[in-house]
Amino acid sequence: MATVFEMIINGDIPSTRLYEDDQCLVILDINPISKGHALVISKKCYPTFTDIPMETLSHMMEVARKIDQKQRDALKAEGTNIMINNSPASGQEVPHLHIHVIPRFSGDGKTPAFPKEKYAEGEMAVFGDLLRL
Ligand code: 5GP
Repeated sequence: MATVFEMIINGDIPSTRLYEDDQCLVILDINPISKGHALVISKKCYPTFTDIPMETLSHMMEVARKIDQKQRDALKAEGTNIMINNSPASGQEVPHLHIHVIPRFSGDGKTPAFPKEKYAEGEMAVFGDLLRL
């Protein structure tokens, strides 16, 4: 079944388009964390960060950087969150890779409240050994 983003890319669902090229489309998120919240969406559907070819992802990051600059210029955003939810366990709702670019302002109170954990004695070394490339 087509993802909602494929339907948007095909024009079957309306969207507010900010940019388009052969590899990606940028639209406004319908349910923004802050107004101007944009989504950089790959034209071809790759479900996750893990699946998308590096070349396409690099291009999308270049476009995300232009959107970041535009949000700073046009909205006077003082910062942005550049975010990818990767797989359902992380909160990804639409299985079609996209980069969120969210305008942020000092004191806007929207900082994601990820609760932080603490390592037990010696545990950080264990995770270091598990994850070292
Ligand atoms: P995810 O949780 O997959 O990283 O983010 C999906 C995003 O897509 C959500 O922020 C959601 O608001 C947005 N979204 C879902 N359906 C639509 C839609 O039909 N139109 C637009 N513009 N955004 C959508």
